[in-house]
Amino acid sequence: MAEVIVVGGGVGGMVAALRLARGGHGVRLYERLPRLGGKLAEYERDGFAFSLGPSLLTMPHLFRELGADVPLVELDELCRYHFADGSRLRAFRSPGLMEKEVESLSPGQGAAWRSFYGWAEECLAASRRTFFAGPLGRPPERPRLGDLFAVAPGRTLDGLARRFFDDPRLRQYVDRYATYAGSSPYRAPAALGCVPAIEHGDGGWYVAGGLPRIADALARLLTGAGVEVRTGTEVAEVTADRSAVSGVVLASGERVRADAVVVNADAAALYGWLLPDRRRLRRLAGLGLSSSALLLLAGVEGRTEGLPHHSVVFSADYRREFDDIFRRRVPPEDPTVYIGCSAVDDPTQAPDGAENWVMLVNVPARDPGRWPMSRESYRDLVLERLAKRGHDLSGRLRFVEMFTPADLRDRYGAWGGAIYGTAYQGRFAPFRRPGNRGPRRGLYLVGGSAHPGGGLPLVAMGGRIVASLVDEDFGGASRERAET
Ligand SMILES: Cc1cc2nc3c(=O)[nH]c(=O)nc-3n(C[C@H](O)[C@H](O)[C@H](O)COP(=O)(O)OP(=O)(O)OC[C@H]3O[C@@H](n4cnc5c(N)ncnc54)[C@H](O)[C@@H]3O)c2cc1C
Repeated sequence: MAEVIVVGGGVGGMVAALRLARGGHGVRLYERLPRLGGKLAEYERDGFAFSLGPSLLTMPHLFRELGADVPLVELDELCRYHFADGSRLRAFRSPGLMEKEVESLSPGQGAAWRSFYGWAEECLAASRRTFFAGPLGRPPERPRLGDLFAVAPGRTLDGLARRFFDDPRLRQYVDRYATYAGSSPYRAPAALGCVPAIEHGDGGWYVAGGLPRIADALARLLTGAGVEVRTGTEVAEVTADRSAVSGVVLASGERVRADAVVVNADAAALYGWLLPDRRRLRRLAGLGLSSSALLLLAGVEGRTEGLPHHSVVFSADYRREFDDIFRRRVPPEDPTVYIGCSAVDDPTQAPDGAENWVMLVNVPARDPGRWPMSRESYRDLVLERLAKRGHDLSGRLRFVEMFTPADLRDRYGAWGGAIYGTAYQGRFAPFRRPGNRGPRRGLYLVGGSAHPGGGLPLVAMGGRIVASLVDEDFGGASRERAET
């Protein structure tokens, strides 16, 4: 058994801490912000509630199996996609309905969607046995040859979309899954195409009261499990000799000893200043940053007829959009806009007769001070563009708040405001991102910037992997294998 310090109370840090405490380890968790949850956060104004991070929950069993009891609402329509030519695709949860919807959008492509979905299911099954199940390069089961082929190594996500679909609109729908990892579909691996098998297989969910209720539930479980949680407490340094960690130094100067340190802060923060390591930091920089986000949070007067919980209004030229984000490193001139309105399913999220709109645009992980336009003019561009595409909010806005990459950087210590640390770019990208074991005995990484990646389910899987590594190194019983 070990004395463990967890640096950061994001979801990955909380899941690791909980599993470790239940496995018999002594656990302390330090979070620099006043509340736990990290990017799983919300903003409230004038009776409106807005998610500042996740809006769609997948694989809720990963939280349920921990005892995080939150009221789940399953969505029949996962998302409504609006294409530049004015057509739309309703992504129904049921694979059968989805196939029919694809067929009515583009006659002949329903069967292509069925084949694509079959591929996604195989890819997901292979990932569950290997990539999601254990630390990088060391899955609990030896990968089968079939698993390697199932994830289509060497293909990009866009290459996968082209393999299955003739219709460019359906390719754009597949390509969008690259943004779930903050990446470009023209460089991200095809394996990201397994996400529809998660969404249509296990379902897509909302949590009544907002997704941050998951963080509240985990926080209660931590207290029950005896984890010593200190919020408003920043870790300034991880202490170590050449071979092993020995604890941390808090920003207050207090030294705390530990056998193991689990870092839920960004990998770049670990190697940049918590335990400086220039070589590893350079390697991270070489991988390139994932994208960031501009959020417009709008209190909207009145109700919008037929508005679903989640919509995506696509740009006309997706390649150009990702070139803007990753090559030119500017906010896209013609952005794809995600619109989330939880008030559609939950009246607690907005005052009576009003709506809480979260509009999200993928932008480069870069300070908005270096954008070629002011953030206000870019906000106006996004709202004008939406108006032209049938989502006109003029005359209905009570207020619009902005949340930029600088906020992501300053609030959570995310490198450049990147949502998922380094990007999944290039064939072997998933294997080149930081693993869960750090370069000293007793040092571990968990969270969106480390293996297996970002998003609520993946950071929860990371928490489980790290807890089992600590057991392996120090003894302990966190390791019980649960389904992935
Ligand atoms: C706009 C947006 C939309 C998203 N949408 C979705 C979605 O729909 N579905 C989904 O599943 N996921 C979504 N995600 C991704 C998801 O929110 C993240 O991947 C996940 O919450 C990250 O968890 P984490 O464990 O990496 O911790 P983080 O959330 O990164 O938290 C890390 C914590 O460490 C703390 N910390 C950092 N340094 C220190 C230090 N030195 N000392 C003490 N504490 C420190 C930070 O304050 C922070 O609280 C979205 C994210 C964003 C930003």
